[in-house]
Amino acid sequence: MKTTYKWAALTAGAGILAAGAVGYLIERKRSGEKTENVIRLPWAFRGAAITDNLLTPGASHGRTGQKLSAKGVVIHYVANPGSTALANRNYFENGSDGNGTSCHYIVGLQGEILRLIPENERAMHAGRAYGVAWTEQAKTNNATYLGIEVCHPDKTGKFSAVTYKSLTDLTADICKRHGFSPYRDVQRHYDVTGKMCPLYYVNNPSAWEQIKSDIYNAINADGQVTEAGPSEWAKKAWEWAVANGVTDGTRPRDRATREECISMIYRAIGADNS
Ligand SMILES: [Zn+2]
Repeated sequence: MKTTYKWAALTAGAGILAAGAVGYLIERKRSGEKTENVIRLPWAFRGAAITDNLLTPGASHGRTGQKLSAKGVVIHYVANPGSTALANRNYFENGSDGNGTSCHYIVGLQGEILRLIPENERAMHAGRAYGVAWTEQAKTNNATYLGIEVCHPDKTGKFSAVTYKSLTDLTADICKRHGFSPYRDVQRHYDVTGKMCPLYYVNNPSAWEQIKSDIYNAINADGQVTEAGPSEWAKKAWEWAVANGVTDGTRPRDRATREECISMIYRAIGADNS
C-alpha cells in the first residue's frame, strides 16, 4: 500500500472510530431515564444504558454498607406486573414497607437498567423466604450473591423480549468480570430460598435453562468461553461418550460443526476401528 493511501485509510479508520464513540455516548444519553445520571462505567458494557440511581446508604433503604465478595448472581422478578424499574427502585428507597429490602440492579420494561448498589456492597434480596424459618443458606445468601430484579408486563412473570435481552447481556457482563459460570453461579431466588421467584422461570424450568444458555452465548459472543459441565439431563450420555472416546470431553455446551457431528457418529459406531 502506498504511503498516501495508508494515511487515507488510517484517517478514515480513526474517523469511523470517533464517530462510533460519539454515537455510543449519544445513544447512552438518550436511553437514560435521567440523562444527568447516566454513568460512565469503569468497564466496557455493551448492552443497554445503565443508569446510576444509587439507594441512600442506610439499612432502612436496604443498603447496609456491608462488604460483598460475590460468588454468583441471583435473579428475581419484581412480582408487580407493569411496574417500572424506577418505581421499584423508589419502593426500596422508601423502605420497602419496612422490610429494608434491595438489589444491585433492576432491569425495566423497556430494557433499561438501573444500578442501585455497587457490586462490592451487599444488597438485601435473598434472605428468608416468606413464612419459612431462616436456613443456614438463607443467612449467607446476601453475603455471597449479587441480586438482579426484573420487571415484567403481566402476572405470569414472563420477561418481555427487550427486558430479557438486557438481563442476559447484564448477567453475561457480570459473569465475565467476576469469572462466574452461568450454569454454576447464576441462580433463581427459588434455588437459594425456595421462594416462587422468578415465578415464570420456576414454573417453566426449560425457560430457565434457556436463560442460562443465552447468558453463556452472550459471554461467548465476545470470544470468552466459560467452562461448565454438561446439563443434568445429558450427563449420563456425555460420560458414556467420553469413556468410549466419542468426544474428548471439552466444551459440553458448545455448538458442534457438521464435521464434528460426523466424526462423533463415526467413532460411536466404531467405524474408525474397522
Ligand atoms: Zn426474588
